[in-house]
Amino acid sequence: MSDEFRRLQRAARGLIDTDRALAGETLAFGAELPDPSGRPAPPAPAEPPPASPEAAGKAEQLAALEAEMVAGCRRCPLAGQRTHTVFGEGNPDADLVFVGEAPGAEEDRQGRPFVGRAGEMLTKWIAAMGLRRQDVYITNVIKCRPPGNRTPNAEEIEACWETLLRQLRIIRPKVIVTLGNPATQALLSTRTGITRMRGHWQKLPLTDPELTDVRVMPTFHPAYLLRSYNDDNRQKIWSDLQAVMEELGLPGKPG
Ligand code: URA
Repeated sequence: MSDEFRRLQRAARGLIDTDRALAGETLAFGAELPDPSGRPAPPAPAEPPPASPEAAGKAEQLAALEAEMVAGCRRCPLAGQRTHTVFGEGNPDADLVFVGEAPGAEEDRQGRPFVGRAGEMLTKWIAAMGLRRQDVYITNVIKCRPPGNRTPNAEEIEACWETLLRQLRIIRPKVIVTLGNPATQALLSTRTGITRMRGHWQKLPLTDPELTDVRVMPTFHPAYLLRSYNDDNRQKIWSDLQAVMEELGLPGKPG
């Protein structure tokens, strides 16, 4: 066997692994296959958090924060247009938090983060990491849907900023994955774009003692992968997620 043949064989195996991990195993998510109406099947509701005293205490604090800051929030004009606020969900004691941009139409309808098509993709990523949605915590930079799913503006991000920081202070994750430009730029206080930021570990530019050790991995937004679905993007995202798995000591996928 020539070296060139072996190199090609290794490259092909790598592509197949990435494909399996990020998308190819749709059948493994049988319950989530799209129904014939074309409407994405919503992921199963998050199970109750594990009953450790730590998790129960954090769940209570998060519920109190939602009631205080989000449920009846009127800090910005999005309040007048929403159906539901979307606070976030998952394990209140998670090591890993995903931060997206803003609720979309389905999230606004259900009051839950990432339950539309982008959410189906994110759920696959989480499964590819060997985790379930209820093992991680999922939220967004802003908690109400901007009209037409436009990018959140500075006023909206500012209105939700304290809530996001308080969520993170309660959860105290080890790793935050920021999904796409708005989440990455807001949390890292940078104007650098996601194409340059992704794949590189960052620190939160905050002095909070609760958050100084948190590592941040920016990656592309799941909606971007849906729009630009190709091997290059899949491999990049999978490599970002593998770096997170390594950081958290999660076992890699068998080859
Ligand atoms: N896109 C996001 O950024 N967040 C959601 O919750 C859904 C889609």
